[in-house]
Amino acid sequence: MTTDPDLDLTLLRLLGPGEPEVDCDECFELLDRYVDLELADEPAEEILPGVRAHLAGCPACAEEHESLRALVELDHLS
Ligand SMILES: [Zn+2]
Repeated sequence: MTTDPDLDLTLLRLLGPGEPEVDCDECFELLDRYVDLELADEPAEEILPGVRAHLAGCPACAEEHESLRALVELDHLS
């Protein structure tokens, strides 16, 4: 259930520069779609590049992602 922040950082370093980046505003705007894609087993990181990298480095957005995901999951169950 939990993501491994250390692993995310390692992946970020491996990917290095050239990875598209989004800021908090963009991340927030993309988060709805990102979560939908994740829950639909779509390659969210490929479709919305930069979001995952941002989530790995931004606790505020990571928390937003977690709560949004929980909400959408509940929604899918009902
Ligand atoms: Zn952020």
